[in-house]
Amino acid sequence: MTVKTILISENALSANREIAKQNRAALDVAGVVALNVMASPGAGKTSLIERTIEALGGRLRVGMINSDTSSAAMDAERAENAGAVTVHLNTAGRCHLDAGMVRDAMQCLPLGDIDLLLIENIGNLVCPAAWKLGAHWNVLIASTPEGDDKPYKYPKMYNDVDALVINKTDLLPYVSFDLDNFKRGVEGLNYGVTTFPLSCRSGEGLEQWLAWIASIADRKAAIAR
Ligand code: MG
Ligand code: ZN
Repeated sequence: MTVKTILISENALSANREIAKQNRAALDVAGVVALNVMASPGAGKTSLIERTIEALGGRLRVGMINSDTSSAAMDAERAENAGAVTVHLNTAGRCHLDAGMVRDAMQCLPLGDIDLLLIENIGNLVCPAAWKLGAHWNVLIASTPEGDDKPYKYPKMYNDVDALVINKTDLLPYVSFDLDNFKRGVEGLNYGVTTFPLSCRSGEGLEQWLAWIASIADRKAAIAR
């Protein structure tokens, strides 16, 4: 029985990888650069997405796929108010996005009219790491109130991401977060990962993040031309 269970789970993951590849191909054909934004609940996924849309909406056409485990669509509304074309994915209790859900959401978006697609994953540091979506960049947001031990406790997540945001740096004087211990943990898993310490609230450090997004979107546009 154990062997059968493992096979099913591997089949599900390999089927997911196939759909993720198709998603990537569809994004590439449409000239869209896509980010899979992952974090624990409350780390600031929606806040960072909101700031990004507000700052770059004038020069990039932004799409947003928001997921939550319920029908609560307030985060999708925030992105829409900031200027993105948005789809809300209600996973009905499921704790991660998979490529099939993203494919369905992509079909509701005018991909040809979008330059940048921000996919807000479910707040969870465990399974989103295993389920690839077809996005070009997997981005993790850590936040200072979570504590500096998270790379040690969720190594798979920290190991697999392409970029790391450290949000809520404005709270550093008030919370127990040893930045050096955090960085040591990250370096052991994902040496040299592109890192952005910032505060969505104060705006400190946002400029570097926004410049990075703009540069990857420009590179994508140059390839698509
Ligand atoms: Mg959110
Ligand atoms: Zn899950």
